[in-house]
Amino acid sequence: MRGNRGQTKDSMPNNNWTECETITDKIMKGKFIAIMISSLMTMSCSNISKEQNIEKDTFEYANERFADIQMLRYKVRDFDSLTLKQKTFIYHLQEAALYGRDILFDQNGKYNLRIRKMLEDVYTNYNGDRDDKDFVAFETYLKRIWFSNGIHHHYASDKFAPGFSKEWLLKQTECPEDLAEVIFNPNIMPKRVNLADGEDLIKSSACNYYENVTQEEAEAFYNKMKEEGDQLRPMMYGMNSRLVKTPDGKITEKKWTTEGLYGAALKKIVENLKQARPYAEDEQQQKVIDLLISYYNTGSLKTFDEYSIAWVEDTKPLVDFVNGFIECYGDPLGLKCSWESIVNFKDIEATKRTETLSANAQWFEDNSPVAPEFKKKAVKGITAKVINAAILAGDLYPSTAIGINLPNSNWVRAEHGSKSVTIGNLTDAYNKAGKGSGMLQEFAYGPEEIEIVEKYSDITDDLHTDLHECLGHGSGRLLDGVDPDSLKAYGSTIEEARADLFALYYLADPKLVELGLMPDANAYKASYIAQMQNGLITQIVRIELGNNIEEAHMRNRALIARWAYEHGKKDNVMEIVKRDGKTYVKINDYEKLRGLFGQLLAEIQRVKSTGDFKGAQALVENYGVKIDPKLHKEVLERYKKLNIAPYKGFINPVYTAERDKDGNITDVKVSYDESYADQMLRYSKDYSALPLVNE
Ligand code: ZN
Repeated sequence: MRGNRGQTKDSMPNNNWTECETITDKIMKGKFIAIMISSLMTMSCSNISKEQNIEKDTFEYANERFADIQMLRYKVRDFDSLTLKQKTFIYHLQEAALYGRDILFDQNGKYNLRIRKMLEDVYTNYNGDRDDKDFVAFETYLKRIWFSNGIHHHYASDKFAPGFSKEWLLKQTECPEDLAEVIFNPNIMPKRVNLADGEDLIKSSACNYYENVTQEEAEAFYNKMKEEGDQLRPMMYGMNSRLVKTPDGKITEKKWTTEGLYGAALKKIVENLKQARPYAEDEQQQKVIDLLISYYNTGSLKTFDEYSIAWVEDTKPLVDFVNGFIECYGDPLGLKCSWESIVNFKDIEATKRTETLSANAQWFEDNSPVAPEFKKKAVKGITAKVINAAILAGDLYPSTAIGINLPNSNWVRAEHGSKSVTIGNLTDAYNKAGKGSGMLQEFAYGPEEIEIVEKYSDITDDLHTDLHECLGHGSGRLLDGVDPDSLKAYGSTIEEARADLFALYYLADPKLVELGLMPDANAYKASYIAQMQNGLITQIVRIELGNNIEEAHMRNRALIARWAYEHGKKDNVMEIVKRDGKTYVKINDYEKLRGLFGQLLAEIQRVKSTGDFKGAQALVENYGVKIDPKLHKEVLERYKKLNIAPYKGFINPVYTAERDKDGNITDVKVSYDESYADQMLRYSKDYSALPLVNE
């Protein structure tokens, strides 16, 4: 899916609340993307043991704020339980990851490294009052540059406008004229990636992937390559080079290799990969590293495909990593790949949980409220893999994705498959940080609801996702002869509703307590509160006033909540309460609500199994689409007052290797006390292998 403009990587605005997203729903094929997260209902993966540790977590997830950004921290859960070999492997891999940072800065714009260096010198040497308003504006500007890996917004790609004057900067440093122009003149390099039709996208984009070539020339260059290449198994032409026109008019690629462009940084990466190699978990993983090194040395795209195949087939090790030119969003033509890295390892506890569900898949199928003819005779649960991130780097840092689905090459995916995982400790951090946002306090009916959600939602969120993914989507069957596409545009909403209802119904089942997955018979209430509050009220904060609900997951949540509300009215199962002009939902009878979820599950499964288009249409249109404009306005105003930062990113943990007198690593420690600015300055000092100008 290279060049797919419909999806952008990033935490989308307001991601610490409104979206109840599940991983396979949002991971686009062939891409890392960010998945929106809700504080109340999502797929974080905290540990659950039989003892059910639900004490208060004192780890500081939310960190400082500046501009439109909130910084978070993530915990590398279970790091201490890894073997020394695994820890050592991770240590070297994270070093390899950190050395790529400057590559991305330069890819994002040719002045970025010079500007960063100049500003960091000012920042470090400044002797004046650090509370002075110019300095504060300057500090914010620098923090934004660090966050975006360049002078343009990481998401919107617009150039930042400094909040301090040129005169002020010139008082601090001898800022060269060309840099001053780039920083202060809004007409120079206004956008990192321009996608507006009708303009030369290369000339009008500030990214550093092309030099002196027009869009037409670049397209002709790569079209020719594609035509002459293997049609069945096309390589990813252009992904690892800058395209330049030399003074004599020749168009040529400057490859990013250890001997070419970005060579100094790539050499450091290779050096650290070599140090990691002896600690790889199996021979296949060593082969992966060898191929990656060979590709970095030669720039051969054929080697890159071989590397991708070896990587995707290497599924056994606990520790895994991505290190390379991966994302194509920064190039308006979608060919050039930005550098990034993530080192991770499997979350054993979370994976155990999904294995328990999968092992009992048939019991869940047999006992569901669905009519027998729509049930599967033999059902197989899916074991979703959950990982912990150990380090984020390049285009995954500080703004990151929370799911991985790679490789990008379509033919490699078709012939060899892909790896799809969720990064549990990042979603967990989003959730935990979201709890301090005030969202729950603003929208929950009362203290009792708040208490239940705070106490149990970590566990119920995880289980909701697990049930949705591992069992919900896989349950039920179509009657013979029913066309799987017969629900047409309503199909995905119905499918998501089916999976969510399956989860909601079973969250309240004593079986989950019996299996040791739920702490007690009260816990499920947290997910019922979340479902009703989100579906009836809060999810619409993401929608502009006047618009309808469009997205399938949001439609599904509205459908479930409104249907249950309507059908529970006669028994007063829940009420919509107005207090001081604010709207709340109050659940009066959780048991009956479970019954309603069961009824709707049976009906939705019937619609799906029989391909009842009219039935699907009626459910979705009646319950899932429209928004009451008065409620919408009220909710948007309440949300705005909470002043939640629209974008979030992560400060990395710090790894320290303890060594014996011969230099062998004897242990690796992880710590979390480095500040955002200190981390950025340290990375610039310790991991800057590149010259400031790369030509
Ligand atoms: Zn789903």
